[in-house]
Amino acid sequence: MQDSYLHKGKRKILINYLRDKLGITDENVLNAINEIPRHLFLESIFADYAYEDRAFPIASQQTISHPSTVAEQTELLEVKEDEKILEIGTGCGYQTAVLIKMKALVYTIERQKSLYDFSKNKLRELNLFPKFQSFGDGFAGLPTYAPFDKIIVTCGAENLPTELLHQLKIGGKMVIPLGKFEHQTLYRFTKISEKEFEKEEFGAYKFVPMLGNTNV
Ligand code: SAH
Repeated sequence: MQDSYLHKGKRKILINYLRDKLGITDENVLNAINEIPRHLFLESIFADYAYEDRAFPIASQQTISHPSTVAEQTELLEVKEDEKILEIGTGCGYQTAVLIKMKALVYTIERQKSLYDFSKNKLRELNLFPKFQSFGDGFAGLPTYAPFDKIIVTCGAENLPTELLHQLKIGGKMVIPLGKFEHQTLYRFTKISEKEFEKEEFGAYKFVPMLGNTNV
């Protein structure tokens, strides 16, 4: 399947919805979502619905996040060109693609082998290249590449993964859903000093759980 005028037209409608109904104001976020063909990350049976604000099943019982969630998390991240961003939960690679389109240097980790393989192939096919793509457990972060300007977690952790906070630069931000399965609250942590963090809260969301180890 290819991108088409029909898909492009549907994306414009989605962008208007994200801007006017959800109040997304970061034009860089809206431009990136406008440019990434979300339908190509989904099974073809869902392609017609790819630009509705819906989550869909992907491999290994995981889900691609709603476009509104991707827009909100990305806006909260305040992405700037050339920033080093660590993403936990590559999934199908859609959020990764949005960050790369925004000219971030993206380091991403996925614990499901099937999704690691899928996203790697898909991003390459679309000429989108993360700086580093890892099959591993996001709880450990990527100490070799730390510190990061920003960290985005796309699965819900029951407890705050403190190792990730260590891997943030001073002044860096981490956007993460915390709480029990499907009853998470979205938070943004800003690292003020080695030991001090500002914590802001952004309402209720439903994410798949952040799990330990890897699954081949
Ligand atoms: N941003 C993704 C969302 C996928 S859902 C997308 O656009 O498709 C969240 C993903 O987090 C799932 O693929 C799940 O396997 C992954 N995940 C859960 N716990 C993880 C962990 N500890 N480390 C890395 N990935 C994890």
